[in-house]
Amino acid sequence: MGLGRSLLLTAAASDRLNRMATRSRVVRRATRAFMPGETVEAALEAGRGLVDADGRGLLFTHLGEALTTLVEAERVRDHYLGLLDRMAAAGVPGEISVKPTQLGLEQSPRRCAELAGELADRAHAVGSVLWLDMEDSSYVDRTLDLYESLKVDYPRTGLALQAYLRRTPADLERLAPLGPVVRLVKGAYSEPPEVAFPRKADTDRTFQDVALRMMELAAKGRRGEGPPSRAVLGTHDLLLVGRIQAEARERGLPPNTFEVHMLYGIRANHQARLRSEGQAVSTLISYGQDWYRWYMRRLAERPANVWFVARSIFG
Ligand SMILES: Cc1cc2nc3c(=O)[nH]c(=O)nc-3n(C[C@H](O)[C@H](O)[C@H](O)COP(=O)(O)OP(=O)(O)OC[C@H]3O[C@@H](n4cnc5c(N)ncnc54)[C@H](O)[C@@H]3O)c2cc1C
Repeated sequence: MGLGRSLLLTAAASDRLNRMATRSRVVRRATRAFMPGETVEAALEAGRGLVDADGRGLLFTHLGEALTTLVEAERVRDHYLGLLDRMAAAGVPGEISVKPTQLGLEQSPRRCAELAGELADRAHAVGSVLWLDMEDSSYVDRTLDLYESLKVDYPRTGLALQAYLRRTPADLERLAPLGPVVRLVKGAYSEPPEVAFPRKADTDRTFQDVALRMMELAAKGRRGEGPPSRAVLGTHDLLLVGRIQAEARERGLPPNTFEVHMLYGIRANHQARLRSEGQAVSTLISYGQDWYRWYMRRLAERPANVWFVARSIFG
């Protein structure tokens, strides 16, 4: 891991920096590149603009981390239930993406499954979809168990898998009979080398292999030879997407067997271009007051962004 990235991930864990940054109006303004605002209204308004511009898909996530009681988890559930209702009322179509630890995975996997079930149920009722984010590697087993239990009643539920984890190809095979609805991402946490590939090239190669397997499953589902599934590439790495597309063509997979999901504000011009070329694209919009750790991880993904932020702060 580069020095810049590890420093930023260390800074992400600092409560003191968190307090300082979230109080600073200038830093808050600098975050606008990656999040349209802290409120649901700001997120819905930005989403509506994107849908009106090119009909792309949307995902919404309310930022928050490290919760300690199930009462807080119930508040998170209430927030997302309210969000789903407001999306429906405002006529803004979209899906929601939630961190299982925000629903109490750490405190009680059983209660977490109940709360997630309530969200999946409301999502289903309003024509939306619940996605589970994948967090650090200590949660992967519990998150997979949660996903499998939700899939029984809510087959459209989605799950993020991380290509940097050595275990991910096996995890996908475990989910294959269920018709996995998977968003493949590279992985955003700091993990030991026994668990995750230290070299980016290995992560990228695994990303490609797993993505193609997901696309095969999606193509089978479309032919009625397996349960329906969705293959989502959650990445801004367009060279990698291009390599996957080329390999898919060689294997005779139909075009558009996959979707691309990217984060709001990152490679925005490419998101619009892909849409104009007919590619299925969704933009994930994050909002909320608890943005510090999430924002630092975005900077760690591309330490060059620190200079953009510094420039916008210091003029
Ligand atoms: C929709 C979505 C959902 C996600 N969900 C999860 C999750 O549940 N769990 C999880 O661990 N991670 C998640 N991530 C984050 C992911 O793991 C990566 O950390 C992140 O996407 C950066 O990797 P990359 O695939 O874009 O490729 P990289 O190789 O990091 O980047 C490729 C190129 O994209 C551009 N780029 C990438 N990141 C940035 C940035 N921050 N700012 C500006 N340009 C950038 C740069 O030009 C870079 O060269 C999610 C990402 C997306 C897009």
